[in-house]
Amino acid sequence: MKGYLIDMDGVIYRGSQLIPGAERFIAELKKQDIPFLFLTNNSQRTRRDVATKLKGLGIDVGEEHVFTCAMATARYLARQKPNGTAYVIGEGGLLTALHKNGFSIVDKNPDFVVVGEGRTLTFEMFETALSMIMNGAKLIATNMDPNCPVAGGGTRPGCGAIVSMLEAASGLKAFSVGKPSPIMMRGARKEMGIAAEDTIMIGDTMETDILGGVQVGYKTVLVLSGGTRREDLGKFAYGPDKIVNSLADISHAKLTQEFFPAPVIRTVRRGTNGASPKKLEFAAASGD
Ligand SMILES: [Mg+2]
Repeated sequence: MKGYLIDMDGVIYRGSQLIPGAERFIAELKKQDIPFLFLTNNSQRTRRDVATKLKGLGIDVGEEHVFTCAMATARYLARQKPNGTAYVIGEGGLLTALHKNGFSIVDKNPDFVVVGEGRTLTFEMFETALSMIMNGAKLIATNMDPNCPVAGGGTRPGCGAIVSMLEAASGLKAFSVGKPSPIMMRGARKEMGIAAEDTIMIGDTMETDILGGVQVGYKTVLVLSGGTRREDLGKFAYGPDKIVNSLADISHAKLTQEFFPAPVIRTVRRGTNGASPKKLEFAAASGD
């Protein structure tokens, strides 16, 4: 069984516009019961909120098909410090995920300062977070995306920009859990229940989706319907397995044929002593 991890912004939609081909591709996966998860580095919404947004755009999926960096972060922190405490710069998606994983949200002496997306950030929050970090709280980033696209073609500062300010002020480095961190890439795959070598990552961002997939050994597909242009690719020392204009250019059937070709079966006849022919299998692609 193969499975897909699919980035959303720039792959499925841009702002509030569905990207042509997305609906058909997801319908194909659903029809054939192919496992897939939408993967987002936006910690603002809960997985249910994300599923509701997708439904509004015409992609009818349940919340079990959504995996956010807020979930990855909360699960990771629960393993690091069960029933820990956090001061949060972020919104509902991150707060809900931390609560679900046994964390308490506090405004004094937290174990962690956790930074996600949000529009309610104030300088006072920066000040509070900084003094907590100086007093020993660990700085955790849900992701390090420097900026994010907004509807209408503009950009807004991303979680990484907020974290950079705290890093500069404290002189300490944050630990980031979202894409391309193997923590999120592996967590999503485990949630889907598919082996690494059978996992295909589809995304529009080289620094997160493609790097994340390359690092953990997934097949990677870059779509040019988002933030990356073909001429940008020369800047990177790694590359995707396949580049397409958008989801309109791929199908599950064609991708699996290309990425996982069936073994070539040759029949070898041995001598003339009447022994039955032996079948030898050769993998179409040589292994390592
Ligand atoms: Mg994207």
